[in-house]
Amino acid sequence: MVNKIIVAIDGYSSCGKSTIAKALAKYAGYTYVDTGAMYRAIGLYTLRQGLTNEADIIAALPHIQVGFILVDGAQHVTLNGEDVEAFIRTLEVGNCASRISQIKEVRAFLVAQQQAMGIAKGIVMDGRDIGTVVFPKAELKLFLTASPEVRAQRRFDELVNKGEKPNFDEVLADVNDRDYRDTHRAESPLRQAEDAIVVDNSNLTPDEQMEVIYGLFNSKL
Ligand code: C5P
Repeated sequence: MVNKIIVAIDGYSSCGKSTIAKALAKYAGYTYVDTGAMYRAIGLYTLRQGLTNEADIIAALPHIQVGFILVDGAQHVTLNGEDVEAFIRTLEVGNCASRISQIKEVRAFLVAQQQAMGIAKGIVMDGRDIGTVVFPKAELKLFLTASPEVRAQRRFDELVNKGEKPNFDEVLADVNDRDYRDTHRAESPLRQAEDAIVVDNSNLTPDEQMEVIYGLFNSKL
């Protein structure tokens, strides 16, 4: 019997992290955890409650429960027991998630839950700080990247598919702003772990990219 490992996937927003992580989890028979969805759920809570200042957000943490449920085989994030998957993928919630993720206490709150999810290994987790902070000893660390224009186009297409009417320049500016915030924040900024393998998927088809990733996974077993 092959030992189970922890796979940490980090990278910029709209790099296809979650698509890759989901596909790899399915291939490996592992649990997938989308940590961005956890930050988004807290972002949604603060928007709904109208909480803007840091002290109020920190004080609210004991009243926030973030979890996951399976709905028709797909993972949905829950906020205090409510399935909020349908509300968290907007630009507004994404921006709010990016802001609240800069608060040290918010990160500590979620990182502790994420570490608990990995105790039995057999997990693929994606985010910004998984290989550096959440699981610094993960057996396989991937760092995904693609050019801002390619990522903005992907996000633009996603929003159009959801029925939104995005403006490409705004989406690109948003990708650049979010990259800046993710890489420059004081708390756990996005950075590549020294032992992470970089995968630039700007010019790879989804199939080509998964071949590379399955190969890397198998080489770690
Ligand atoms: O990955 P996603 O775009 O859903 O993440 C939303 C926001 O949550 C990101 O812009 C990032 O600022 C934050 N995040 C984080 N650490 C993680 C996952 C997400 O700071 N592990």
